[in-house]
Amino acid sequence: MTAVAGFGLISALLVFLLQTPGLWSCPFVPEHCFDRPIESSESESSEGSYAVEQSVVQRAEGDPATIYLTFDDGPNPDWTPQILDLLAQYGARATFFVTGWAATTYPALIDRITSEGHTLGNHSWGHENLTTLTSNELQQNLRRTQAALGEHATPCMRPPYFASNDDVRRGAAELGLQLVFGTLEPQDWTRPGADVIAERIVSSAYTGSIIVLHDGGGERSQTVAGLALAMELLSSQGYRFEAVC
Ligand SMILES: [Zn+2]
Repeated sequence: MTAVAGFGLISALLVFLLQTPGLWSCPFVPEHCFDRPIESSESESSEGSYAVEQSVVQRAEGDPATIYLTFDDGPNPDWTPQILDLLAQYGARATFFVTGWAATTYPALIDRITSEGHTLGNHSWGHENLTTLTSNELQQNLRRTQAALGEHATPCMRPPYFASNDDVRRGAAELGLQLVFGTLEPQDWTRPGADVIAERIVSSAYTGSIIVLHDGGGERSQTVAGLALAMELLSSQGYRFEAVC
């Protein structure tokens, strides 16, 4: 009985690790934590997305075919402009969950994002795992990031790595921030190929989907190319793209 239970536990752990490659090296190789977000691995993401979907998403009356694109870890001078160009081609609006550090480093990109009708969300100051911060550090981190977004700040926050707990939720709520997760994570950060990213988006997208992609934190040419393929197909199917926040 004990052996069976032990085997089950080890199997579950192996499956968990295989599904979350970023976990292998992230705590030990800090750049992997940033380059390879493990946001898809948190079991609480689906619960969170449901709760947030009900309260944050502005559903368009009479237009059921709406998809919500979100981009994390930017802005980035290499990839964000390419994604903005693509969104403009389709008259699409999206939400960019930016870090405070990147926002203050690339203010012109923030201006372009907002002037083209997209919205911003708080993705921490420097992509910290918020569950590791003290209550004071958490408050300072989120406040500083909101301040960096200034007049463009929204009540939306997505914790890096989708890492959250009661303390993070409480700390965010004290600042009037709601946690926004996603309903579909094509894992573009693993760079599986543009066609695979596109296929994952197209095959799983549905009305009200919140799609998690990345415009920063690493080389994102596959994200750009995969999104281009997916948007072409989805828009031909009548979908439109709106900002979740
Ligand atoms: Zn991130």
